Amino acid sequence: MGQFQSAEVCTTPACIQAASHILENLAPNWKDMDPCTDFDKMVCHGFNQLHDSPTVGLFAQEKTNNRLLREILERPYEEATAVQPYVLRRRDNAAEHNFDMAHRAYAACMDSDAIEAAGVKPLMDLVNRINEQWPIEMDYADDLFDEADDTAGLHKVIAALTKLNVRTWNGAPDGARGNRKPDPIDQKKQRIIISIPDFSLNYFDSEGRAYLDSNKTSELKDQIAGAFRVVFPVSLNEETAKQLAGEIVEMEISMLREASKTAQDGGNSSTSANIFARGEGSGTTDPQEALKKTIIPLAELRSFAPVLGLDVLVRELVAGGSTPDAVVVLLPAIWSTFEQAVKKQRKIVVQSWLLWKVIKQFSANVESNELKNLDLGGDAGSNKYDTCVEHVDDSLRWILDQLFVRASYPELTRSAAAKMATNIREEMKVHVEKLSWMSEETRKRTVKKLDNMKLNIGFPEHDPDLRSSDDIAEFYSGVNITSSFFDNALEALRYQLVSDARMLSKPTSQSEWTSAYSHQTNAAYESTVNSIFMPAGVSRPPFFHPDLPEWALYGALGTVIGHEITHGLDSSGRQYDENALKTNWWDDKSVAEYAKRQQCFEDQYTKFELVGPDGKKYPGNGNRTVGENISDAGGLAVAYDAWIKERKSMPNTWDQGLPGLGDFTHEQLFFILYGNVWCDALTAQERVEKLRGNPIHAPNLHRILGGTANSRAFKEAFKCPKKEPECEIF
Ligand SMILES: [Zn+2]
Repeated sequence: MGQFQSAEVCTTPACIQAASHILENLAPNWKDMDPCTDFDKMVCHGFNQLHDSPTVGLFAQEKTNNRLLREILERPYEEATAVQPYVLRRRDNAAEHNFDMAHRAYAACMDSDAIEAAGVKPLMDLVNRINEQWPIEMDYADDLFDEADDTAGLHKVIAALTKLNVRTWNGAPDGARGNRKPDPIDQKKQRIIISIPDFSLNYFDSEGRAYLDSNKTSELKDQIAGAFRVVFPVSLNEETAKQLAGEIVEMEISMLREASKTAQDGGNSSTSANIFARGEGSGTTDPQEALKKTIIPLAELRSFAPVLGLDVLVRELVAGGSTPDAVVVLLPAIWSTFEQAVKKQRKIVVQSWLLWKVIKQFSANVESNELKNLDLGGDAGSNKYDTCVEHVDDSLRWILDQLFVRASYPELTRSAAAKMATNIREEMKVHVEKLSWMSEETRKRTVKKLDNMKLNIGFPEHDPDLRSSDDIAEFYSGVNITSSFFDNALEALRYQLVSDARMLSKPTSQSEWTSAYSHQTNAAYESTVNSIFMPAGVSRPPFFHPDLPEWALYGALGTVIGHEITHGLDSSGRQYDENALKTNWWDDKSVAEYAKRQQCFEDQYTKFELVGPDGKKYPGNGNRTVGENISDAGGLAVAYDAWIKERKSMPNTWDQGLPGLGDFTHEQLFFILYGNVWCDALTAQERVEKLRGNPIHAPNLHRILGGTANSRAFKEAFKCPKKEPECEIF
């Protein structure tokens, strides 16, 4: 904002930092480049050279955030609070108590000697304990799964794993809040949600076609076999372990293959993967009717797949609380096909699939070079400090978040971010009001939806309230942190289950921070609660600081906030009405007009190509990424106009420049900041690989090129020959 200075150029440390960030990223020969066609190369040249892959512009702050947390966690309380300039220095027992817990968890994680001394034994013990629930000799055994003999044993294992909060049949669905989701037809209520299991690999691409990358599949088999050899060194020889691993992978593939057929038959979406992703669809065009069918009374749940024991699972998910009358089951038709696939296996394969989940979950919590070499995920590659900050984050997130907020997020930053978010939402309302292709009724309700949208800025104010150490202490009152790193990992997961279950009886809240947290470098929109989340961790230099001029704030974070707000109205977000219910609330004509414009985005981003290191061209997936691309365009448009309005309302002297950037107008700089958010340090090979995994975001450079191609203001600022946006909805 820079309002404390009347100089033309802001020279505070934050301003100099932001300026040097822009300058070091700028191509040295930028004056010879055409911003209308090569904007990505012009503004990101240096970023690619200065950063390690896979860093992306905005997310480069993650490292700084983690370093700050590490600095806090490595000191005793007195010193740690002294490095937090915004902490009240009064004696605060709850704060000290919370800090001690986090400190203890961090110290246990950093205690390499103790972890080494324990070796792989804690994991072996745990796996054996689970195996005893349904005792199976870990040896080659021909016995097929027998429904009459084995169902009870399987249910015991499911119960034991769910108590530990290890996911078995229930995967982690998009947009879920732990194991919960707002009831799809009574949004105030929360329900347990059962989605399809998490599988070890993406065996199918996002179009539902068999993906079966043979390299990846055989790598997975080696991992599973290797892991089993570590945990059962005596009873499993190499050959048996390999055979078992092969059958585990085959079981996953056969479950998915059958399920994708069922989903396609029963769904109204074009691809099974879309249905998997959304978890809905049942042949009717009224979303509320379709969603009603996913609410399953608990009494009926058992009959779905009696062998799998979904009812057993639900009883454990409530962690001692009262059992709900009904749950939401995504793709109810799929469960009997899963069950058929499971029943065909040898019973050792079924058991091992479940044990594999335990090994994978906790492999990073024991010291074993063999497991490390298998690279099962977790902390591979990152250093010990980052791993341990992450560990404390997993166990005691809100304690860490409060420390982070107190150290780096003064009220002035929060109020600046909140004001900007409010302005941008208001601007989106203005844009919607002007849409001549949208019927008046739909327009009115869209504006209402924007009014109802909750803007969560910085940190949570309840469950727990980050302003209150007492509230945080209360939140973690049942957690027991010891000097054992392994036990702490178990405890963290168990407690997540308990606190998640506790929330189940409360009404749905628009301000529950489940999809974001404060020290995170990201932002989010949740369609089932119509809320955006803009964490403190993303509002940091060089992109955000109260000293920075408005064009910098709006060009960087403003476009991110605009993006999240537009998610509420993108191709999937627009299907949720002003009460966050999925209904057919748009009239047919407005839907058709929207679809026409959406198609423009799909074609545009499919035409964008990546050139691989082999010189081959790889087209984008405009269909898959359309929601994100619509949000980029909308975000840019409303953030820009909100800035222009804000600028007009301020004295001229507040519209400051930054040192060394006098060659650019502030309008141009707004877009240079937008570009800087999406610069990346990926290699050509990595970009192609990422694209082939079919992510929901277009490649970062396409986000820069697409965003600017769809912005009239950009073309005017850089005097491009054609001013018309290529695609536009808002
Ligand atoms: Zn997005």
